[in-house]
Amino acid sequence: MTTVLGCIADDFTGATDLAGLLARSGAKVSLRIGVPTEAPKDTAAFEVIALKTRTAPVADAVAETRAAYAWLKAAGAERFFWKYCSTFDSTSEGNIGPVAEALMAEIGTDQTIYCPAFPENGRSIFMGNLFVGEQPLAESPMKDHPLTPMRDSNLMRLLAPQVTRDVGLINRLKVAEGAQAVRTALDDLRNAGTAHVVVDAVANSDLEIIADASRHLPLLTGGSAIAMPLPALYAADGLLELNAAEAAYAVPEAQTIVLSGSCSAMTNAQVAAYRAIGAPAYQLDPLTLAEKGTDGVLGWLAEQNLGQAPLIYATADPASVAAAQDKLGRERAGALIEDVLSACAIAARDAGARRFIVAGGETSGAVTKALGVSTLAIGAEIAPGVPWTFCESAGHALALTLKSGNFGSETFFSHAQTVLDAS
Ligand code: ADP
Repeated sequence: MTTVLGCIADDFTGATDLAGLLARSGAKVSLRIGVPTEAPKDTAAFEVIALKTRTAPVADAVAETRAAYAWLKAAGAERFFWKYCSTFDSTSEGNIGPVAEALMAEIGTDQTIYCPAFPENGRSIFMGNLFVGEQPLAESPMKDHPLTPMRDSNLMRLLAPQVTRDVGLINRLKVAEGAQAVRTALDDLRNAGTAHVVVDAVANSDLEIIADASRHLPLLTGGSAIAMPLPALYAADGLLELNAAEAAYAVPEAQTIVLSGSCSAMTNAQVAAYRAIGAPAYQLDPLTLAEKGTDGVLGWLAEQNLGQAPLIYATADPASVAAAQDKLGRERAGALIEDVLSACAIAARDAGARRFIVAGGETSGAVTKALGVSTLAIGAEIAPGVPWTFCESAGHALALTLKSGNFGSETFFSHAQTVLDAS
């Protein structure tokens, strides 16, 4: 199928999030991990390429994005979407602005929008200022992010140093006037030479208006939620047919493994809730792993009934994580956990696991790499931004869900299994 929208995401779980929201429409969505090495074949209406460029040097991020763009163009895409984090994770160098300008130059367009709002997950934009829940971005925990500390909440001020052309705003009052008013405002800004337009949105209904008003632009940029209305709009334009049956995938048998390497507050609650319902569980400790290796956990796993969906987790509270990092160093502690969870994924697959529930962005990257997965088809949504996906590993059909740290509710691990059983 010719690709209608070609999407490029700057990290892995962000790509799954976008793919999941697009698939809500019933459209066929494929996710590729990295730029595919082979020419496009069997492409979906919506193609998402997951890069790992959020904090890469600008030149590397731009070069990788150009390669992804070339692949998507070869797949037939004439419209493109640049997906970044709903908290606008970037530094004063980039990579949001430089990548957008590189894509604009490739496409030959002189205007795009910036809309990282994700109302269902508490991200909203008012008068160009980004909020996380009720807190301005710069007062939210993002102010202390180790790689991209966000110390300003104003998207125009954040974007301006990252781009060479003018930055403007279409505010919430204009959005409230409807799609035609927003389209006119975009045209007025273009005539005044404004290439980069931040657009306010506080609710899903704002996103519908903005997507409608800007769908003629060959490049849109934002979080995942602004892309959500696009499939229905494209269907109304006659660009594709939405057919939920088309997106149905065979659900593999119920042998399940749950692997958690995320230490976020929500994942801690999810692990506690899963243990509280009596699920078999094994806790990994980086210090024990460093001393004694992986025999303990692999031995435990070999004895498990995968029909009971056992959990292997490194998830720990901040004090325990800090203690392990003090002794081993942050990188070594992280690598030990990622390596052992990767080994567990392979062992579980070889023992018959066909459903994988994985928590943690980095952890998801490590596990998919270990399983040798390069293309994921997107299925039913478990929580906002977290779908089931379907893929192949060593000749086996697998269902895989990849959850970034703070997504999902407390019952995510059991709920994920219920969702798959029902689909
Ligand atoms: P999130 O999506 O919550 O950020 P990630 O998987 O991206 O989760 O990151 C968590 C990181 O913390 C991984 O590198 C993981 O290996 C590491 N980690 C997990 N558990 C521990 C622990 N108990 N001690 C130290 N590091 C840990």
